[in-house]
Amino acid sequence: MSRNKLQKLGLDLPLFPTTSVGSFPKLPALARARNEFAKGKITGAALHAEEEKATAFWMETQEAIGLDVLVDGEQYRGDMVVYFAEHMPGFEIGDLVRSYGNRYYHKPILTGEVRWPGPITVDWWKFAQRLTAKPVKGMLTGPYTVMDWSFNEHYPDRKAACLALAREIRKEVEALLAAGAKIVQIDEPATSVRPEELPLVVEAMQIVTEGLPGYFITHICYGAFRRIYPGMLAIPVDNFDLEMANNQLSLLELFREHRFGKDISFGVVDVHSHVIEEAATVDQRLERALAVLEPGQVWVDPDCGLKTRSVEETQAKLRVVVEGARRLREQHASRPVAAR
Ligand SMILES: [Zn+2]
Repeated sequence: MSRNKLQKLGLDLPLFPTTSVGSFPKLPALARARNEFAKGKITGAALHAEEEKATAFWMETQEAIGLDVLVDGEQYRGDMVVYFAEHMPGFEIGDLVRSYGNRYYHKPILTGEVRWPGPITVDWWKFAQRLTAKPVKGMLTGPYTVMDWSFNEHYPDRKAACLALAREIRKEVEALLAAGAKIVQIDEPATSVRPEELPLVVEAMQIVTEGLPGYFITHICYGAFRRIYPGMLAIPVDNFDLEMANNQLSLLELFREHRFGKDISFGVVDVHSHVIEEAATVDQRLERALAVLEPGQVWVDPDCGLKTRSVEETQAKLRVVVEGARRLREQHASRPVAAR
């Protein structure tokens, strides 16, 4: 189904397309520049130049490794929610708070009517896309997650805040599509935390994507999938990007009980571990995936964003992903057509 959609959009991807979830580590020179900018020692233009250099490095890296669908690496972002809040009127940036794990961030506060200020990510998408002939995904944080990770002092309730954000984020999606993006990923990592709010995630994503000519992906981090599956399949996207490796592929059991009817970006490497996966481990994970999923449904990628790994670990993990998909393609090419 979705393969037809990709073809209609002019995207001729191989079987088992490879991609990554979004973030890559900041290069040391960029990390230094961000620090110096925060202390007022360098200008915004100097920081921007470093962000461009780092983005170009990651584009070259992905090309060299041989990924099929590229990302800009989010070198210009600190936090995935704060970045959008900083750009959208209606938000103020609050004090430093701690969320799960060791994530500290300046939690945004909705203090007024949220508004799309004009393109936020489009120039970065264009910059990255100019550097490659491969498709580059547009990358946004979804309305539910932006709402969930912010304080709300303006809207009557969570739903009103989320739907208002959805209407504005849709405008960013439209701007990306108008610029030429064909694949847009709208991350909703918070979806798996409060199962009772799944209908709100669905309604918000409807507002963001309905009737738009793109191939849509959403990334959801690992969480209470037992309680949101299969209901989450109602989220109107073409492809779910899911963490499979770090939970021993336990989601496959759920897919066995209720067919997974969408495309999936199947995480085969753990982003929390320094260890680089053996080829055999990746092969085994993909083999287990294909016992439950159709070949045409499966994309191959890391579990989650790689920004907490080192540059070398990131490169090594991406290589493992690409080589795993390549071996799988070879296997499938040698099978008789009827058995595919
Ligand atoms: Zn994740």
